[in-house]
Amino acid sequence: MATINRNYLKLPGSYLFSTIAKKVNEYSEKNPGADIIRLGIGDVTKPLIPEVTKALHKAVDEMGNAGTFKGYAPDLGYDFLRNAIAENDYKARGCDISPDEIFVSDGAKSDCSNIQEIFGLDDKIAVCDPVYPVYVDSNVMAGRTGDYDADLQRFKDVIYMPCTKETGFVPEIPKEIPDLIYLCFPNNPTGAVMKQEQLQEWVDFARKNGSIILYDAAYEAFISEMDVPHSIYECEGARECAIEFKSFSKTAGFTGLRLGYTVIPKELTAGGDRLWPLWVRRHGTKYNGAPYIVQRAGEAVYSDEGKVQVREQIAGYLENAAIISEGLKSAGYEVYGGVNAPYIWMKTGDGMTSWEFFDYLLEKMQIVGTPGSGFGPAGEGYFRLTAFGTRQNSIRAIDRLKTIG
Ligand code: PLP
Repeated sequence: MATINRNYLKLPGSYLFSTIAKKVNEYSEKNPGADIIRLGIGDVTKPLIPEVTKALHKAVDEMGNAGTFKGYAPDLGYDFLRNAIAENDYKARGCDISPDEIFVSDGAKSDCSNIQEIFGLDDKIAVCDPVYPVYVDSNVMAGRTGDYDADLQRFKDVIYMPCTKETGFVPEIPKEIPDLIYLCFPNNPTGAVMKQEQLQEWVDFARKNGSIILYDAAYEAFISEMDVPHSIYECEGARECAIEFKSFSKTAGFTGLRLGYTVIPKELTAGGDRLWPLWVRRHGTKYNGAPYIVQRAGEAVYSDEGKVQVREQIAGYLENAAIISEGLKSAGYEVYGGVNAPYIWMKTGDGMTSWEFFDYLLEKMQIVGTPGSGFGPAGEGYFRLTAFGTRQNSIRAIDRLKTIG
């Protein structure tokens, strides 16, 4: 008789964004024609840059021609893309990462959730609170956590690192030593960043204790301040203790195209065993390579024109972030993030809970955001807005907040 993986039963309720979608649908059904402004889910709205669409068209034509057609892509990615990544995202920043340490994939969500497979089931994970839920849920599914404690809103046997106003929304080094440490900076949902010396402390801690840092840099392209590292490999010794994830989703609007990559330095070990060959094996067995046309599109992001166009696109989103942040501040709200990230993390008004504030914004102003508590108990009393909407909608949302709120 077949049985299920009972770890899945530990997962509470539905996924945060499904709950939000359900509430918004119910509201729309009751209020047909309501002009809802969506600043909730972190999806981009700007179209692909011209350099990318040009590369896509060219690659599609190649695929339609017998002489240039491509079948399965190499499991780990085409050299043209791995070389472009190594050159632009690492060498140009003084980081020592070679193309064969870069594993091209269909995005950071898959990589962040799959990476745990190459680690021991007894390894203890540490995550920030609030947190991008994928890190925790993928470990729950694998059986690396205990049961969910509904009162605490936490899984047993997981080290949670509160990121609060008092800590500047960055985690403090935990007393208990974790085996695997998930860090994400610039952060989703708080928009906080770690400065170079802060991240260096984590690298030193991990090296000293034999921990591995799983560093999600999906929002790296939004960094606008000088002393914020773009890669964990800018820290001394990170090759000995860190794996890094990056994504083309938010950098270049690839959420619908799907492209990302993971970096595993060749000498990186866990308990004396090398991780690089395990990920080669895992990738080779379970993944058949990102599509050729998408990898060519990714390569175009690193062309001279592509870099200029991507920078303009990101600057546009950061301008939205500034409009939202400044508007909220002038309406009297306490606001964080939005400078090196597309996320604005605000304190809810009048001591409302995160979900009360969600309902209040939806019903009174037809604005959709994301309740901070959905990312963990330390997010209670906070609310996330994204800068990924259009300029017009960012302005309209703030106008509504100022006039109705
Ligand atoms: N990591 C973080 C922190 C994210 O917020 C997201 C998407 O919202 C992802 C990874 C997923 O990126 P991708 O679209 O490359 O799967």
